[in-house]
Amino acid sequence: MFHWRAEIRPGVSVAFTDAAAGNLALHVGDDPAEVARRRADLEQTIGVAPQRLRFMNQVHGTTVAVMALESPAPEADAMVSKGLPLAVMVADCIPVLLAGESAEGPVLAAVHAGRPGLANGVIPAAVAGMESLGASGIRAWLGPSICGNCYEVPAGLQAEVAAAVPATRSTTSWGTPALDLPAGARSQLEQLGVSVEYCGPCTLETDSLFSYRRDKNTGRFAGVVWCHD
Ligand SMILES: [Zn+2]
Repeated sequence: MFHWRAEIRPGVSVAFTDAAAGNLALHVGDDPAEVARRRADLEQTIGVAPQRLRFMNQVHGTTVAVMALESPAPEADAMVSKGLPLAVMVADCIPVLLAGESAEGPVLAAVHAGRPGLANGVIPAAVAGMESLGASGIRAWLGPSICGNCYEVPAGLQAEVAAAVPATRSTTSWGTPALDLPAGARSQLEQLGVSVEYCGPCTLETDSLFSYRRDKNTGRFAGVVWCHD
């Protein structure tokens, strides 16, 4: 079910699911009842109460939603909470999970960082959202996404994104213009003093993970951050 899972401090864990956990997204034409069952399986596996894990309707924007217990699924690409469990869905974009500490306990965030979101600053916006909840000592985990050797883009698009985030400039393994989204995310986080762990690997090169570039008609795996006993 998990590509990677770790308890990153006592009572706080982060994980990235794999294709064996199944498609977790409602927007890719899958049977909603099956998606709900897989989300319930995931909640049970990580010890989160049914329907407590919060997903968002991702739109490649920079909106950060502050989540409360009653909050419906927001239209956003980042969520922050004072300990409520959060999930982000991807298949080539970067799932970014963050955790910090406040006087009242853990502050969590889950971010969907694709090309537009990364270029427009969704990651720094999420860090600011955490700080507005009193978080310090923020750390980040970058999950599996398409890598800088595989993510070919037209030269004009590369120039546009690299103007905003220089560290994204890359070249494919076959010598054409590319974008390295994980390198860009790392540079943005490190500029803010956030320590970064890269959990990789490349989705396009890893058959046990969903990749939109590889398969087009594909599911979404998830990054999840949660608190537990
Ligand atoms: Zn790759």
